[in-house]
Amino acid sequence: MSWEENVRKVEPYVAGEQPRQTGVIKLNTNECPYPPAPGVRRAAQQFDFERLRLYPDMNAEKLVNALSEHYRIKPEQIFVGVGSDDVLAMAFMTFFNGEKPILFPDITYSFYDVWAEVFRIPYQTCALDERFRIKKEDYLIPNGGIIIPNPNAPTGVMEEPGMFEEIVAANPDSVVIIDEAYVDFGGKSMLPLIDKYDNLMVVQTFSKSRAMAGMRVGYAMANEKLIGYLKDVKFSFNSYTMNMPAIELGTEAVKDEAYFREIVGKIIRTREWTKQQLSELGFVFEDSKSNFIFASHKSVPAGELFEALKANQIYVRHWNKPRIDNYLRITIGTDEQMEKLIAFLKNYLKERTDD
Ligand SMILES: *Cc1c(COP(=O)(O)O)cnc(C)c1O
Repeated sequence: MSWEENVRKVEPYVAGEQPRQTGVIKLNTNECPYPPAPGVRRAAQQFDFERLRLYPDMNAEKLVNALSEHYRIKPEQIFVGVGSDDVLAMAFMTFFNGEKPILFPDITYSFYDVWAEVFRIPYQTCALDERFRIKKEDYLIPNGGIIIPNPNAPTGVMEEPGMFEEIVAANPDSVVIIDEAYVDFGGKSMLPLIDKYDNLMVVQTFSKSRAMAGMRVGYAMANEKLIGYLKDVKFSFNSYTMNMPAIELGTEAVKDEAYFREIVGKIIRTREWTKQQLSELGFVFEDSKSNFIFASHKSVPAGELFEALKANQIYVRHWNKPRIDNYLRITIGTDEQMEKLIAFLKNYLKERTDD
């Protein structure tokens, strides 16, 4: 008998690379290519470091109140955490304690099965159809909970909230989590339904549309009772998850609605341009309502393109996984970055098909 027998062994989540060298065009982890709102920088410059002696506000009231005003819901309907990964991990621990398996798509955010494993939650994946669409019937079976991103990752495909509403309504005994990490890029939020369904939770993040992946801020919105249970678990685990700068700077990000709309609008326009260019180069993809495009080339394997791009300092994401190993997930960067990507691909594909 070795101590190792008592170790909780898990296969950890693998995030996209954060290359150290400069000059890389980084289109591999769905970060925002623009800086955070100007008020965020101001708040950082004015932040009084002397305050760091003290513990932060464990309720992150300032940030919660800003979100409450922004979304016009009660502060009691909001839970904030260290990125939505923290919020989602807490939610798995809090709501998925039944014997029945939780359900999520077979092609989805690859953290879900990792959390299920680490928390010993039984799970079952539901296959997307061949066009990466969710099949509603898959979620109308007995289950211990449901989690689905909308738009989905890494496919970028958005489903209409009406379909999710049917799933939520048909599962009153399970908590249904809709992970809306990419909703600001053209998706439709389930938020208006949180008062109607007490088993619905919507999760969003500052990492993509608010350009603050490095700050780590995420939040959940649901009815007060559900949020209350989430808080009970959080306060039984680590009361001070949100640090002072995250609370201050996050608050500023929420307040600047104009800047938020401006950068999201720019990313959407660049995405639509990129879609057109990729199509002309022979790529095929389902329509994306996120800040990335999940594309396959009709003749050149994705693995080869991934390596060629990387050798040329352009990083995108590729998974050696069943069903998706011939796809590249390309984050939308600035116009200039996307022009460089397209120019490289044009040249590469031309040379490759010439010989
Ligand atoms: C990026 C992402 C998250 C997590 O983002 P955080 O940086 O932890 O807020 C959660 N879900 C999906 C689907 C994502 O793509």
